[in-house]
Amino acid sequence: MIIVDKNLCIGCGACEVICPKVFKINQEAKSEAISQKNCDCVKDAIEGCPAQAIFVS
Ligand code: SF4
Repeated sequence: MIIVDKNLCIGCGACEVICPKVFKINQEAKSEAISQKNCDCVKDAIEGCPAQAIFVS
């Protein structure tokens, strides 16, 4: 499961740019996983997240 920890997320938007099919910035200006499809770009988004807020379990 792809999870964004909203307490860690700073809403920078990087994950949405890197992997728009999976991550979307919501109305609270936090990223949310809108799909559980584990694309290759999820790994890139995890590496690119400055807050280390994305987890895959
Ligand atoms: S890259 Fe990380 S900090 Fe930035 S919006 Fe995505 S989850 Fe949040």
